[in-house]
Amino acid sequence: MPGQKTYKFKGLTIKVLSYLGLVYAVIGWLNEVLFQWTSSPLLSHYSEYIAIGIFGIYRVAVEKNPYTKKKIAVLTAMVLGFWALLPYLFSLTEPALGYYSGKAIWGRSLHVPMTLTFFVSILLVLLFGRRAVCSWNCPCVGTRDTMGAAFRKKTIKSEKAWKFRHLKWMLTSFYFALFVVVLLPFPKAKLLVDVFSGIVGVIYFASFLFIPLTGNRNWCRWLCPYGQTFGVLNKAGFYKIKADKEKCISCGKCTKECDMGIPVQHLVETKGEVNVSDCVGCGRCITNCPKEVLSFSDVRNLFKRTPSSVEYGRLKDVGLQGKEFNVITSSTQKIENRKPSILEHFKDDLINSSLEANQSTCELLDLNPEENMKQGEKEHVESQIFSQ
Ligand code: SF4
Ligand code: SF4
Ligand code: SF4
Repeated sequence: MPGQKTYKFKGLTIKVLSYLGLVYAVIGWLNEVLFQWTSSPLLSHYSEYIAIGIFGIYRVAVEKNPYTKKKIAVLTAMVLGFWALLPYLFSLTEPALGYYSGKAIWGRSLHVPMTLTFFVSILLVLLFGRRAVCSWNCPCVGTRDTMGAAFRKKTIKSEKAWKFRHLKWMLTSFYFALFVVVLLPFPKAKLLVDVFSGIVGVIYFASFLFIPLTGNRNWCRWLCPYGQTFGVLNKAGFYKIKADKEKCISCGKCTKECDMGIPVQHLVETKGEVNVSDCVGCGRCITNCPKEVLSFSDVRNLFKRTPSSVEYGRLKDVGLQGKEFNVITSSTQKIENRKPSILEHFKDDLINSSLEANQSTCELLDLNPEENMKQGEKEHVESQIFSQ
C-alpha cells in the first residue's frame, strides 16, 4: 500500500536522524574528554543537550499521549535550563559535604553524592518516587525519550533481560563506597572519583550506540548506579503503582509499553501493584491501560480528599442512575480539584460517553435534552406535555 510505504520511509528517516543525534552526543563527549579537536561547546558534553533540545521539540510535537507530551516538554526544559544553560552562563558552586565541597558542581550535581542537589533529589524521590529524576529530570532520560524514542519497540522483553537488571549492583556498590570515601580524609579519594566517573562516562556514552539493538533504556535498565540508588528509595518511600487487579483483562499492553522491560502485567496479576525499584514512573503503563487498572500513588495521595457524600448526592441527584459510579470514577481527579461547579466537570464525560441524562441534568448542564436524555425520561416528559 502506498500509504504504508510513506509511513515506513518516515519511520526510517526518524530512526536515521535519531541515531545521528546519538552519535553527535558521543562525538561531543569524546572531543571534550579525549581528543580535544576543538574547544567549541558545540562539540562537548553540551552536544547531548543540544540534540535533546532539537529532538525534544520534535517529540513534543508528534507525541499523542498528553501525559507523555507534558513529561517530555518539562524534561526538555529541565535539561536545557537546569543542566545546560545555568552552568554554561554562571560558574555556580553549591554546598557539598566532604571531598566535593567548594567545587563548581551545579547542574550535574544530582548525580554527585553529598551535594545539596543530591539530597534534595533523594527527598523528592522518597516523596514522589524515582520519576522525580528518571522521568522528568535527567539528561539520560532526555536522550532516551527523545532520540531514543525511535527505538522504543526494540526494548528486549525476555525473562533473561529482566534478570540482567541485577547487573546494576556492580556500579552501584562502587557508588555507595564513594559516599563513604568522599566524606573521609582518604588520600585516594580523587583517584577513586576519577576512576568511577571515567567508567560511568565510557559505558554511558557507549550505550547510546547500542540503542537500536536493545531499546532506548539500556543504561537505565542494566547499569545505572544513580537509578539503582533512586530505585531503592522508590521502594522505601511513598511511591507505588497501584493496581485494581480485578479489572485486568490480561491484554499485555502495560508490559508492551514499558521501556524498562518490567513484566507489568505479571506483577499486576500476582501482586496487585508494580512496586519494583526498576520502575522509572514514566506512566506509560498507566495511560495505555484500556481498563484504568493502574494508578500512581505517592505522598500527594495522602492529601487528596475523596468526593464528599454531599457531592455524591449531588451527582446522583442529577440523574446518572446506575451509571453514576463510572462517572464519579473517571471524574474523581477533576472533582478533587474543587473547581466551582462539580457538575461542569462531568459534562464532557456525559457528552462523550453513551450515558444519558435526565431532564434535570439537561437543564443543569445546559445540554440538549433530545440528544442526552434517557429514553424513558423523554417519553415521560413528552406524556406530561401532552397531558397538560
Ligand atoms: S536510570 Fe540513571 S541515567 Fe537513567 S534516568 Fe535514572 S538516573 Fe538518569
Ligand atoms: S494494560 Fe491494564 S488490562 Fe491490560 S494487562 Fe495491563 S493492567 Fe491488565
Ligand atoms: S512499570 Fe509503568 S511507569 Fe514503571 S517504567 Fe514501566 S511503563 Fe513506566
